[in-house]
Amino acid sequence: MDSYVIEKKIGSGSYGNCFLAHLKENPDKRYVIKKVPLSNMSTKERKAAQQEVTLLQSLQHPNIVSYRDSFMDNGEKDLCIVMSHCAGGDLGGKLKNHKGPIPEDQLIKWFVQIALALDYIHSKKILHRDLKAGNIFLTKSGQIKLGDFGIARVLNRTMDMAQTSIGTPLYMSPECCNNKPYSYKSDVWSLGCVMYELVTGQLPFNAQDLRGLFMKIVRGIYTPIRTTGDRAYSANIKNLVDRMLVTTAAKRPSVRSTLLTPFLSKHVLEYR
Ligand code: ADP
Ligand code: MG
Repeated sequence: MDSYVIEKKIGSGSYGNCFLAHLKENPDKRYVIKKVPLSNMSTKERKAAQQEVTLLQSLQHPNIVSYRDSFMDNGEKDLCIVMSHCAGGDLGGKLKNHKGPIPEDQLIKWFVQIALALDYIHSKKILHRDLKAGNIFLTKSGQIKLGDFGIARVLNRTMDMAQTSIGTPLYMSPECCNNKPYSYKSDVWSLGCVMYELVTGQLPFNAQDLRGLFMKIVRGIYTPIRTTGDRAYSANIKNLVDRMLVTTAAKRPSVRSTLLTPFLSKHVLEYR
């Protein structure tokens, strides 16, 4: 921790606090330090958690947030994960501040970059597990950077389901609502939720309480994306989102196959 200067706290999320920081010797390059309390874990579990983050550090892709460093702090009680700072903020904030619908070509560019990032981590046998608009970042120049991948698993071991899902039950897949294991297809479901949100400005499933929410998710019925009239998008977009929000995991496409959708091909070539 000694090599970093903490500038300010930028948020507290489901797993801990985030701080904006820079290296002592270089104030110009900013980092985000995520501090996760592991005080309820045994020494062995802490070691395992840190090892897993070390694995995440080895991942490199133009559309994922790079993890720079990780170490234990506060008398070995907190796991600190250092990642690059994305100055453009997250898509949740973008959506909130956007006046009117997001243009379709912008949406397609974002989707392709998110899907390429997700396909990359899936190809390394890593699940995201916490995909939501608030974990998808933008650089100053508007490039997508997928963040917070794999971290949920590091922590899931010692927390029970209810606790770990507090952060993001809105993007939870039907199989996870039914206590089935999280899979690659569960990430695809969450990606479907993110896309639906970017298209309509609303989440596909919402309710007053967890029980009501899970019931809606499992039924899988949501207000259709409009292809005519006000706030209309092409049938291509609607069909893509509908495919990702299929309730049966086995019938849902992999991220790789969403990228093979013909109308996306020229954009995929641009980013690959
Ligand atoms: P959450 O549980 O909501 O994902 P986080 O702890 O991951 O919360 O993030 C807290 C805040 O810090 C959020 O506003 C998020 O946008 C911001 N943030 C996290 N990581 C980064 C990053 N790499 N670059 C820029 N902002 C980030
Ligand atoms: Mg986050």
